[in-house]
Amino acid sequence: MFVENFIGWFLRYKAKAYLKFEGFDNTLLPPNPPLDNTGLYVHIPFCKGLCPYCSFHRFEFHEDTTRIYFKALRKELKIYKDMGYKIGEVYIGGGTPTIMMDELIDTICLIHKLFSPGDISVETNPDHITKKDIALLVDMGVSRISVGIQSFDDTILRLIGRYDRYGSGSEIKSRLLDVMGDADTLNLDMIYNFPIQTRSMLETDLDVIEEIRPGQVTFYPLMVPDATKKRMSKLMGKISYKKESTFYRIIQDRLSNNYTPSSAWCFSKENSGMIDEYIVSHDQYVGAGSGSFGLIGNTIYSNTFSIKEYVEQLASGRLPLKSKKTFSVKEMARYTFLMNLFGLEMKRGDFKKRFGRDVCSIRLGGLECLFFLLIGGIHIDKDMVRVTHKGMYYWVIMMREFFIGVDNFRETSRKDLLKEDSQLKNR
Ligand code: SF4
Repeated sequence: MFVENFIGWFLRYKAKAYLKFEGFDNTLLPPNPPLDNTGLYVHIPFCKGLCPYCSFHRFEFHEDTTRIYFKALRKELKIYKDMGYKIGEVYIGGGTPTIMMDELIDTICLIHKLFSPGDISVETNPDHITKKDIALLVDMGVSRISVGIQSFDDTILRLIGRYDRYGSGSEIKSRLLDVMGDADTLNLDMIYNFPIQTRSMLETDLDVIEEIRPGQVTFYPLMVPDATKKRMSKLMGKISYKKESTFYRIIQDRLSNNYTPSSAWCFSKENSGMIDEYIVSHDQYVGAGSGSFGLIGNTIYSNTFSIKEYVEQLASGRLPLKSKKTFSVKEMARYTFLMNLFGLEMKRGDFKKRFGRDVCSIRLGGLECLFFLLIGGIHIDKDMVRVTHKGMYYWVIMMREFFIGVDNFRETSRKDLLKEDSQLKNR
């Protein structure tokens, strides 16, 4: 585990510097329209109940607030259209985007009208896995539906508060079987390495997946940001990275029978084009909705996490941008190395075109390249850099640490919102 621990430590250290955002005057500096097609991420931060392990930006659902929010969101999308943005793929995530189907449908209609996008992906929860809801989404041109399952094990579902909200593992399984084949791609989001999860619990989850045969499965390691570490270890016990590594190899081996890896943690049958990580497949993307991130050029932008401020900014015709971080060329090159190879391969020519030097150049990512070559994590030929079977877990570790860094930033940004959260709850 020495190499794995070193990679984790290094990424944790780097992510802190990478994700140091600065304040941003949104009245002066809207991002410039990019030249090429851009991805669009839309965030719907409301859920029926809040899962204890979850560090996404989300609030307890309240109908009035959610309607006001959707209205503001549609204003934000119109501003990007007026600024000349051309949108390719669209990812609608949360929270629970399907929490108010009528509002979601109106928003997707608007997205079609404004941008004529390519593929659209929508996240949902098991209570929306019904013939009716899936048909509504498919009719709206949604090609990928991603369902948050986490586990089919009832002990785990009870522990993480999802059993009462979404039903038992076997109920969820039969709902999934009922809609199988109704959407182009149905992705199941799973989590592994819960401290109470045994090897046999994981094997049973994999057995259920083999029975259901969804088009795509994404297995995330349990990720806990610093602020919730204590609470989580009290609730579930301590996370073991040794177990994470063993479980990942089991997942990798079992899924390789029926699936091909699309990223280090997403496994797809053929023709399942989109994956959850739009940050991997897009060099630039716009983030719409409270708490979402966008990457335009070398700058990451973050929207305000406050729903109140979000709605107010849009009511006065301004983008709800709150903070930003501009990368140096070297930082951007390293970010590209990390993200592109999370998708398991990268064209050397594309990297050179973008940064003016080869990926092996010592002035950009040369040391990282050498390190991963020496430990057998990547393979380099004339045209391509590819992550090896062994190296896939190294990218899981790096992305885990990167996302924990993002979660830490979210937790800090949400600190002042506790009052707002309880106001929303009590309305
Ligand atoms: S895990 Fe999903 S349903 Fe649970 S609080 Fe987070 S976003 Fe909401």
